[in-house]
Amino acid sequence: MQCNNLNYLKRNSGESIEVPLAEMEVIVVLATEQHNVPILMYHSISSPANSGFKPCTVSPESFNEHLSYLKQCHYTSITVTQFAKAMTRGGICLPSRPVILTFDDGYADFYTTALPALQRYGFTATLFITTAFIDSTSRWLQYPNERSRPMITKTQLAEINACGIECGAHTHTHPPLDMLPLSVARDEIVRSKELLEEYLGQQVSSFAYPYGYYNTRLQQIVRACGFTSASAIRRAISSLHDNPYALARLAIWPDTDVHTLATALLTGRGPLVASPVKRIRANLRLHVRSVYGKFWSHRRGA
Ligand SMILES: [Zn+2]
Repeated sequence: MQCNNLNYLKRNSGESIEVPLAEMEVIVVLATEQHNVPILMYHSISSPANSGFKPCTVSPESFNEHLSYLKQCHYTSITVTQFAKAMTRGGICLPSRPVILTFDDGYADFYTTALPALQRYGFTATLFITTAFIDSTSRWLQYPNERSRPMITKTQLAEINACGIECGAHTHTHPPLDMLPLSVARDEIVRSKELLEEYLGQQVSSFAYPYGYYNTRLQQIVRACGFTSASAIRRAISSLHDNPYALARLAIWPDTDVHTLATALLTGRGPLVASPVKRIRANLRLHVRSVYGKFWSHRRGA
């Protein structure tokens, strides 16, 4: 898809509008001036195996179309840690059209499918890895019945790191951290960091909350463990002025086409972006989960 022939932006009503290139350029420049940085969240780049796991997949063909669009529109990819550094420096080291590509969990198809595509287009990314399942399969996915999906190996992890992809932590066993006693949650966070640092021989600075569930105490723990950022979901475009321990990401779905992606990146609206009302509701849900999680922990005597 060519950027100089865009005609797919839609108003909130769903009505399509044509936007000439010059206007698009203004929109993109404005977005950059406002220090907005879209962080895209992918999981598995593969064809769906069963309906339960389908929301976590994007086909290789769709992924290729997303990358092609980003390339043609002159986006420059950065890692989450580069963004966190830019936040501390007022954004002076940000490229003019930044985008961050993140991949959660550490499926083997990141190595076999996503990485070659990223390299073809010259993009970097941040991969968030669940350390208990390295060299194994997705054993925590019992409810979608996807426990046999291959995860990356230590050898692949070293190659991914050598290719300039940032490797971040995503806990050890992928639990919803806000439902755990804080000491257990801390162990999950620390263990994943220490193991990754042992495997990679270098510091690991970025973290992502499993399922996007977090609260204030978890943010404090992640910070105290030495991470410079933590990614949530929140369905919004991130900004330099955001909390680095609750970074907003746009979840990319199996049916996210280039039109939908472009609408989110260029206007900050559309199906990928939560409305202010939905964002308030999501924050309330997180708070309620956190309260009940603590209650549950005390009842369990933890
Ligand atoms: Zn995950």
